[in-house]
Amino acid sequence: MKKSFMAALSFVLCLAIIGSFLSVGFAEETKITTCGEDCEFYPTIIVPGNGQSSVCVTDDSGNFILDDDGNKIQAFPAYFQIGKIIRRVLFPALASLMLQRDIGLSDALADVIDESFGINACDLNGQVVTNVVTEKFPYPYSKCSDYEKTVINNNIPFNKYPTALPDDHIYYFEYNSMGNHIGFANELYDYIQMVRAQTGHDKVNLVPLSQGASVTSAMLEYRPEIMDQLHKVIFVVPALKGSTLFGDVFTGRVSFLNTDYLYNGFLSDMRLMDESTARLIEILLRILPDEVISASLDKGVRHLMENTMIRSTSMWALVPPEDYPAAAEKYLSSPEMANIKAQTDRYYQAQLHLENNIQALLDKGVQVFDIAEYNYPLINIGERWNEMNGDFILDLSSTSMGAYAANCGETLPEGYEQKNTHCADETHNHISPDRVVDASAGLLPDTTFYFEGQRHDLTQHNSIILKLAMRLIADDEITDVYSSPEFPQFLSGRNVQELLPLLNTAKALQAEGKSNASIDAAAADAQAVLDNNLATGDEVAACEKALREYLVKAGAAEEEKTPKDATTLRNISAYLYENYGTNGFSEMPLLFIRNLIAKCLGVFKG
Ligand SMILES: [Zn+2]
Ligand SMILES: [Zn+2]
Repeated sequence: MKKSFMAALSFVLCLAIIGSFLSVGFAEETKITTCGEDCEFYPTIIVPGNGQSSVCVTDDSGNFILDDDGNKIQAFPAYFQIGKIIRRVLFPALASLMLQRDIGLSDALADVIDESFGINACDLNGQVVTNVVTEKFPYPYSKCSDYEKTVINNNIPFNKYPTALPDDHIYYFEYNSMGNHIGFANELYDYIQMVRAQTGHDKVNLVPLSQGASVTSAMLEYRPEIMDQLHKVIFVVPALKGSTLFGDVFTGRVSFLNTDYLYNGFLSDMRLMDESTARLIEILLRILPDEVISASLDKGVRHLMENTMIRSTSMWALVPPEDYPAAAEKYLSSPEMANIKAQTDRYYQAQLHLENNIQALLDKGVQVFDIAEYNYPLINIGERWNEMNGDFILDLSSTSMGAYAANCGETLPEGYEQKNTHCADETHNHISPDRVVDASAGLLPDTTFYFEGQRHDLTQHNSIILKLAMRLIADDEITDVYSSPEFPQFLSGRNVQELLPLLNTAKALQAEGKSNASIDAAAADAQAVLDNNLATGDEVAACEKALREYLVKAGAAEEEKTPKDATTLRNISAYLYENYGTNGFSEMPLLFIRNLIAKCLGVFKG
């Protein structure tokens, strides 16, 4: 995710998203491709994940609002109007700082959250009513404009991974991650009809990513007749049974509302900034009394939940079935929420029927593949973040349809035998080489691939996941995890976001005759590691480091920023927490004196 810190923080604040759904009729019925009856391919529809569609802010007349660079402003995860925010917060912030009390600061921040995230708020029927427009692509990739191709590639970099599948057979289904979930399931159904009409093919492939899997799962439940029109479904890190992160947030278990955690480790556990930055912010929070910080966070979360999140049926679809009844009781039991609840209850049923619906697909002869990621603890927004294996955003049990796994950093117990819940072949070994995952307990043990140490929101930078998905959509040569030694069941996480441009720089130097032996060798190593699906993430990182070093020496690349040593700031923050708990700076002298007096009294009594 290419997010600024502000965007990341807002994401963190509660994973908001937007709502709007355009009732586009996908009217395009004319045949676009000329592939003919005996075409060897299947048209493939990508159903992207959370925030991977272009949902733009408009004015009251429906015109796009542009930023200073002339780009359409995206409504995900929020619409931050900096000038307005400053005007609303500045005075209460200064007054609260000076008087060390909550002089309207928590209310001002709650207003800012309502205003910014409110761009994604739905009405009490779960429909988008704000000024946003979801851009739609009712034609194949080959017919997309350059702008539209950029939108798609910014989310999923197809252009870096050529496939045999012609680009008039690739479609990208856009939807608003915060919008109406049942509406999207129906739109996806209609979109499939459009693709069939445009291509002349009876059946299509679906590639649902992350949240896109919840839309697909809903469609399979509500419109099961679609199963006859599918050739293959390739789930990529699918949110099929929600996420404990959302389960926690929707049942009121938000970790940072516990100030003992907020002042002692929350920000560094989050892993979205380096530790020295996290510790510095942790210390600076004490510039206000903890009551003010607490009130602001409490109100902020409450406003975000009550005014935006709980009206989004798409957000509800990310709550795991185990948590849904309690969450619905907490937020949807009032009469005014009845229309939302009727819709979220339906999707709860879809979650409960998931295994049956997948089995029905298989019974129809549809090939179903899955790509899951593990050994990356969930982001620590929810209280149960480190209780199960996951990929930073989703639980492994959700993305793998039930695989059994040790927690992150642990291994299955000595002498553990695979459960074989869903694998009948005794010769299969479904335990990961690192002894963390038992894939035989997942619904699709022979067609689910696992990537170790891969972070969910950086999936698009794992070249092997992209290569695997492209192979699966291009032809039917890979039928299971035993088909190709290049794609075994267990693979490694990696991030080639930096390595690819470095390698391009090296190639450019070589073309200009400005390279040297060290760069040539490092570039060759980098290419080899990129071509080797079985290389580990650490090996990729080592090649990147070496290549960068030689390019920096040649003046062709910038040195990597090394994180500052966090020891001093960590010690200061720990000292403050141990001695002053969660109190602000202004409360410290008094406490200090009080402690001193207590100590003296203790001495006298003794
Ligand atoms: Zn065709
Ligand atoms: Zn098996």
